[in-house]
Amino acid sequence: MPSPSDTRRPLATLRATVLGSGSSGNALAVQWGAETLLLDCGFSAREVERRLAAAGIDPGTLGAVIVSHEHTDHIRGVRILASRRGLPVYTSRGTRVASGLDREVPEVQTIASGKTFTIGSISVTAFRTSHDAAEPLGFRFEAPCGTALGVMTDTGTVTEEARDALRGCDALAIESNHDARMLEDGPYPWFLKRRIASAEGHLSNDAAACLLAELASDRLQRVVGLHLSSTNNTARLAAASLTSALARLGHPAVVAAARQETACALMV
Ligand SMILES: [Zn+2]
Ligand SMILES: [Zn+2]
Repeated sequence: MPSPSDTRRPLATLRATVLGSGSSGNALAVQWGAETLLLDCGFSAREVERRLAAAGIDPGTLGAVIVSHEHTDHIRGVRILASRRGLPVYTSRGTRVASGLDREVPEVQTIASGKTFTIGSISVTAFRTSHDAAEPLGFRFEAPCGTALGVMTDTGTVTEEARDALRGCDALAIESNHDARMLEDGPYPWFLKRRIASAEGHLSNDAAACLLAELASDRLQRVVGLHLSSTNNTARLAAASLTSALARLGHPAVVAAARQETACALMV
């Protein structure tokens, strides 16, 4: 349990902004000094640039795009954005092949679970997620000052690799896709309900809360729930679930739920 005299550090330098998250599009900007990395480009290139500018981030500072997996809500604008701005795209071999990005962007760098690579000054560690995609990944970003951000979305279960990579982060952005009861009682056809709740689907509010309880170290200051379903969840339910997991531990980290339409600053 954290104490007032813990070792938490200021978040003055690594910035992260969820530009939007949900089944209609996902993108997250990570900034260190004048460098910006984009994790997923699930809106059109024009829309990502608009959202960056609205969040006070100059699209001209983009240095690379990292792609978690090939689903459209994560790659919609990547071809145009990367081509227009000459940006390298970092993604797994499986995603590269499944998305056909190889043929359509100027440069693709292959990354893999368990490997750490650097883009500019930011160190990035990829880890395996569990999702119905070719080779999906989550990421831990670490700035030279040691501040760490963990991002994991689109995963039906939490893999061991994910648990290891997400430990000791200052901020966490983790999927909180659905309320299990709303999914069960909701309007989706049974096969879709089954897919979402499966080990290769999406993480529920309860599962996200469970994981958060496990990861709530003294360093943790900010948490945001990602990829909320507009049919099977509400921002209030997702935030309440994450908040009560922390409250049970007496942990003071601040919780928010990311929206589809609006940006959410995670670390400033
Ligand atoms: Zn998705
Ligand atoms: Zn997906």
